[in-house]
Amino acid sequence: EHAPEKIDYVFKVVVIGDSAVGKTQILSRFTKNEFCFDSKSTIGVEFQTRTVTIKNKVIKAQIWDTAGQERYRAVTSAYYRGALGAMLVYDITKRQSFDHVARWVEELRAHADSSIAIMLIGNKADLVDLRAVPTEDAVEFAEDQGLFFAETSALSGDNVDKAFFKLLGEIYGVL
Ligand code: GDP
Ligand code: MG
Repeated sequence: EHAPEKIDYVFKVVVIGDSAVGKTQILSRFTKNEFCFDSKSTIGVEFQTRTVTIKNKVIKAQIWDTAGQERYRAVTSAYYRGALGAMLVYDITKRQSFDHVARWVEELRAHADSSIAIMLIGNKADLVDLRAVPTEDAVEFAEDQGLFFAETSALSGDNVDKAFFKLLGEIYGVL
């Protein structure tokens, strides 16, 4: 894509949220344009990268994935260190994963830099018949908490790039 010497910025972004909401697949869709149907739980790989151009700046997004540490308070502060953005993911078909979003916001407020840009993501938007979280509930929560919001499908790819570009653009804008 780009020669390394041309990179203007490296932005660390963390992906958080309950287990099985699709964090790893969102990452795989954004960095490789792939969806892996028989993916095992994440083990080993700590981050993936994709280099994008925003407003003529070459930005390398270094996106960190939790490796099965999604239990409450199991993600360590090292994971959040230096993060400029966060993708906070829930599953639109699992009400509990949305009810836990407030806890994840607390975690971010406790461990991440106070200026971190946060994008709330309702994933699995392709599963329309199984929806358990109305879009309006998420919009209201996001407005309350000052988060950006998008619904995505890692499976179809819908809105995944758009959500990442929005978050990266916001990070760039506030630099
Ligand atoms: P993680 O634990 O949050 O990393 O979740 P994974 O990325 O491993 O995904 C958990 C399960 O949800 C897997 O069976 C995926 O195939 C499935 N999944 C992830 N994203 C989507 C999506 O957008 N749509 C649908 N239908 N399934 C998804
Ligand atoms: Mg995972």
